[in-house]
Amino acid sequence: MAGEPQADCLFCKIVTGEVPADVVRDTATTLAFRDINPQAPTHVLVIPKVHHPDAASLAAAEPGVAADVLREAGEVAKVEGIDGSGYRIILNTGSGAGQTVFHAHAHVLGGRGFNWPPG
Ligand code: 5GP
Repeated sequence: MAGEPQADCLFCKIVTGEVPADVVRDTATTLAFRDINPQAPTHVLVIPKVHHPDAASLAAAEPGVAADVLREAGEVAKVEGIDGSGYRIILNTGSGAGQTVFHAHAHVLGGRGFNWPPG
């Protein structure tokens, strides 16, 4: 059922602590932790604790939690000290766009320059 923990989901296992992670921030509805394969000096993932396969599904089902994820992305940028120089929030949606973990998450990337359009 949408929102329920999924036994085969890596990020659900990070929420429960079954899989360890380097946690940056922990709130009632979200968890922020460092990406295992960072693509920038700061690369943090912000996830909802509830399971939805991508950000659009999360926003449709639980818009308040989707807002929490975005707000937390901003808080992560502040505590990581990248809010002044600018940062990227990325929501890969679908395998064609590079999504590999099908539990909604926002990438927060900063600490280097970025190109536009993105690759
Ligand atoms: P996606 O490609 O789905 O947008 O992003 C998934 C992200 O999860 C990737 O950037 C990948 O490096 C990260 N990731 C995959 N496995 C793990 C893990 O076990 N721990 C952490 N912290 N990040 C992971």
